[in-house]
Amino acid sequence: MLTSQLIKEAARRYGADLVGIGDIRHFAGTAPEHDPRLILPTARTIIGLAMRIPRGLNQVMQSGTQRYAANYLGTKTISEELTVLLLLKLSRLIEDEGYEACPQRTCPNIRARDDDGTNPEISENISLRHAIPVAPGKPAPDVLIDFTQAAVICGLGSPSWRGQLLTTAFGPFQRLAFIITNAPLEADEPFTASLCDQCGACAAACPGQAIGDKPMDVTYAGQTFTTRSYDRWQCSVYYRGAHRANPLQPPDFLADHPDREAIRDGRYRFDEESAKAIYPKLNFLPQAQYGYVACLCGRACDQACYSHLKEKGLLEDRRAAALQAIREGVRP
Ligand code: SF4
Ligand code: SF4
Repeated sequence: MLTSQLIKEAARRYGADLVGIGDIRHFAGTAPEHDPRLILPTARTIIGLAMRIPRGLNQVMQSGTQRYAANYLGTKTISEELTVLLLLKLSRLIEDEGYEACPQRTCPNIRARDDDGTNPEISENISLRHAIPVAPGKPAPDVLIDFTQAAVICGLGSPSWRGQLLTTAFGPFQRLAFIITNAPLEADEPFTASLCDQCGACAAACPGQAIGDKPMDVTYAGQTFTTRSYDRWQCSVYYRGAHRANPLQPPDFLADHPDREAIRDGRYRFDEESAKAIYPKLNFLPQAQYGYVACLCGRACDQACYSHLKEKGLLEDRRAAALQAIREGVRP
């Protein structure tokens, strides 16, 4: 018999670091373009899975000694390979028990119909803003679930100031995947506390001033969380290394640009057009497969957040959990 415990044990065996199960009814009120109940109308639960990003990959970006490994291993490999295997293996288990499993991996280069931003991690994003429903009563394709909302509903964590997921296990350093299923699993409670205390360290650390101060509160499963404006176009320029602290910039970088110093200081404001116009000048390292661009801001926002959460004692000590996993053979 398929139980929540069995699913969680199998997910950990297949490589998940965190697993939570959410009641699909908590998506009531969600916009159709993001509602998992419109992806699988018989859905009862959603399984949330997180894989950690090794902290060391981000720390060496901060220390300045290595930049490319975080892009290749911490972003592309986890999102494009490891979580995909995890999703497919777990889906097989669910379907062998007679239920349907609809795996949801990130769609990093697709922007939902109501999203006019971009994904700084990817070289080129396709916008669905012109998508139309194929029949009355149907949402416009593609329905893309909000991963932070789904993770909160699965009890995995709460939103950061810029709306990404924070967990007590890994802070901001994990990648997510989900399975929508009609299996009647026992659900966990949604995450109701906020790990973010609005300290502002993430915004202060960003070399491109991409995290603003405009309130953008979100409500997930009846719980309202405080988040702030996050300018994805601005982020995309500094993620690619427009700031003066990027050690890979040649001396003549933007030499003929009238706003060179404002750009390098993070004071210049980019929009979609101006961001795309400057991308060709920002090819400091090669892209990884599938168009993942190298991160040259060191994810300073996430690194600052991790340090802050650790200093406040809000992160779990993982040593006991790691030992237990080895004893149970979950960690090969
Ligand atoms: S620190 Fe980097 S990833 Fe974070 S908001 Fe700024 S540019 Fe974007
Ligand atoms: S650093 Fe972390 S805790 Fe502080 S405001 Fe940013 S997301 Fe919140």
